[in-house]
Amino acid sequence: MEKLVSLCKRRGFMFQSSEIYGGLNGFWDYGPLGVELKRNIKDAWWHDMCQGHNELVQPQGAPSPYEMVGLDCTILMHPQVWKCSGHYDLFHDFMVDCRLSKKRYRFDQVRGKWVSRGEQKVFVTVVADPENENDEVTRRALKFFNLRSKNADELTLADSFQSLDKLTAEERTFVLAPDANEINTLTDPREFNLMFKTYVGALSGEEGAAFLRPETAQGIFVNFKNVLDSTRVRVPFGVAQVGKSFRNEITPRNFTFRSREFEQMEIEFFCHPEQSPEWYAYWRNRRLKWYTELGLSGDRLRMREHDQDELSHYSCGTADIEYAFPFLPEGEYGELEGIAHRGDFDLRSHSEGKLDPRERPLKLELNEHGQPKHRGSGKDLSYRDDLTNERYIPHVIEPSAGADRATLAFLCEAYHEDQAPDEDGKMQSRVVMKLHPRIAPYKAAVFPLVKKDGMPEIAKDIYGALKKKFNVFYDEKAAVGRRYRRQDEVGTPYCITVDSQSLQDQTVTIRDRDTLEQWRVKVDDVVAEIEGRVS
Ligand code: ATP
Repeated sequence: MEKLVSLCKRRGFMFQSSEIYGGLNGFWDYGPLGVELKRNIKDAWWHDMCQGHNELVQPQGAPSPYEMVGLDCTILMHPQVWKCSGHYDLFHDFMVDCRLSKKRYRFDQVRGKWVSRGEQKVFVTVVADPENENDEVTRRALKFFNLRSKNADELTLADSFQSLDKLTAEERTFVLAPDANEINTLTDPREFNLMFKTYVGALSGEEGAAFLRPETAQGIFVNFKNVLDSTRVRVPFGVAQVGKSFRNEITPRNFTFRSREFEQMEIEFFCHPEQSPEWYAYWRNRRLKWYTELGLSGDRLRMREHDQDELSHYSCGTADIEYAFPFLPEGEYGELEGIAHRGDFDLRSHSEGKLDPRERPLKLELNEHGQPKHRGSGKDLSYRDDLTNERYIPHVIEPSAGADRATLAFLCEAYHEDQAPDEDGKMQSRVVMKLHPRIAPYKAAVFPLVKKDGMPEIAKDIYGALKKKFNVFYDEKAAVGRRYRRQDEVGTPYCITVDSQSLQDQTVTIRDRDTLEQWRVKVDDVVAEIEGRVS
């Protein structure tokens, strides 16, 4: 992971946001190559799921097409949206503060081990690199008990790690917080809403308060009627949206995996309640296949069905597509995408305001008696089937993916170290990013073997012709072997070299990044050749 992070910075995939000012925790910028990679991933998603979608499916009946349309909604919406979605009341994490270090942690993310020395015991926590967690616990325990490393055998360490939220209140008084040198410095867990709050217009009071969207989904639900009235879609159909979401995560970490500003690629798929289980199964398979087709391998990628007690307040079934990111401990997976069967919760709630019994009043919206208002829009968000005349509130299947997590997973999967011959045929080690050609930032690079004899002119013509079709790179500096390696490192699938033979027979060499195979192609056929291979 360290090598990947350093490559990302060195070659311009990702930078820490506002780095020259020391950065802002949980925020990342995409550099010149990163922006191409992420855009290609979002474009592939948009194409495959929405614009270019042409699947024939029909649970319970003859195969037929279903429609997909898109939306692009605002980040700030009416505050009542978040009341009715449940985010205002329920979208929180529990956090604990350390009285000593003044640091804040997510309750369920502080992990530790019981360590005892004779009668005395302490729960030593770490927020560290998972590989070294054990060493870190021992180091901190030795320090706590005032022992030297050679006395480590006086300590007894529990076998496994436990997260803080599994401890009783009494046990928590023995916790050595991650950045403290004495025990019992953590507060009791407190709720912390993850939505960023801001103020709209000149009003600075609560009347102007609004929230940055924590998911793109709600924009789709509140536009359900508009989509129905302005297009000719019929249930079943889906609405897709790609856009920024914001969550004030307590402990952003693991590179871009958990950021405070990120992009989502979400679909709300509206279907008949009776057919919803089949559509749920359909979307789970379709989404998993999308990742494998773009290069995530089977053994690091998995589908995990949520347990009953893990389900969100609205969900009657959720499955996560997960990836074994290298920064996670062996055997652990991180969520790439959630596919949720949301029933009619959202449409019903935006219509009637029917909410989870755990709701608390929204301070922003009071009625004329000063009582909290918690009704929906009052608009009819049902659907009438014009063929059968049946009226119902559609059920929703929601495949919700993160563009940044997908980008990170594709980068992790692509990273390889192997050997390739240099100019003299000697094997040299290289780093190669085996990105699927569809998502690779550059589809090809063009080199003149040397900077003379008319080779740059031919190379620049090829570059110009390719550039009309896709992102390509031109390079005439340094030895050609070095230029190949620079392209391997950023995942360029094909390198095209103009050499002395090109001057005689108008052919060039094309080199394949992964197989290292080289073959000659007529200059006039280069565009078609590359196009055929990357599409
Ligand atoms: P987690 O449990 O990891 O916080 P979640 O279950 O809250 O994620 P969802 O609300 O299902 O996530 O959001 C859908 C997708 O949005 C996630 O699968 C993930 O890809 C992405 N996502 C959510 N939170 C973040 C974040 N803080 N940073 C980057 N991507 C995120």
